[in-house]
Amino acid sequence: MPQSLLPDAHCHLDSIPQFQKGGGKDGKAAYDAAFCAGLASKMLLITSGYSHESNIANSVLSQQYKNVYCCLGISPQHAQQYSHESLLHGKWEDFIKKRKGAKLVAIGEVGLDYKWGKTEEEKTRQKACFLRMIGLSSKMGLPLVIHSRDAESACLDTLQSEGAKKFMMHCFGGSAEEAKRAIGLGGIISIPPIRSKERKKVIKEAGIENLVVETDAPYIGKLPTDASKSISMVAEHLGIGEARAAEAALENTKKFFSIG
Ligand SMILES: [Zn+2]
Repeated sequence: MPQSLLPDAHCHLDSIPQFQKGGGKDGKAAYDAAFCAGLASKMLLITSGYSHESNIANSVLSQQYKNVYCCLGISPQHAQQYSHESLLHGKWEDFIKKRKGAKLVAIGEVGLDYKWGKTEEEKTRQKACFLRMIGLSSKMGLPLVIHSRDAESACLDTLQSEGAKKFMMHCFGGSAEEAKRAIGLGGIISIPPIRSKERKKVIKEAGIENLVVETDAPYIGKLPTDASKSISMVAEHLGIGEARAAEAALENTKKFFSIG
């Protein structure tokens, strides 16, 4: 793998119109095979599922492109819509276990989201799914990719009590103090291309050895190439060159996801 690949530790290729064979979600045919092949030749892409349907789509994409790997999981926003019965006996879990030839590198995105989960019932479903996913990650020997919104402490409490030691805080929006705690538990921090005062503190707290960069494309960055904006921000806040920041982000991504 050439050193110059630009890494994106978390994106959703299945939601990007150019990757959608059936056309964009707005119904316009936007599939662009040359664009997809071009992107996958110059980037290391970790595409993430968040529902059973998107797990299927992303596992197919990971088989199609050389530098595309996938995470499979059920996000808290989806988990809260599942019935207790389908949480415990869902076909989604069998699919992840079988992986069907996917280049599966982590269980994710999973976690807790109290911005979307307001009621006790929703929070209980999110937690039940999260626990199930942590169990799956330990059974399968895979790290976890954590989605946490307005629930950083609750996520870290759960990871700690379950003994999860290898996890990535995707699109981390917590405080520098919470970043420190996550790293102390064995986690790494993923930086999206959005600037904020707290994120600057988080980057300084984590240091280059505990950071990766991501876009969450198409939801935060429009395309995975926007990872270069995260790299510029990390380089600026740590006072290091962009080439050094890019190299470290790539190495950290490969190491975390065990990509040789
Ligand atoms: Zn995401």
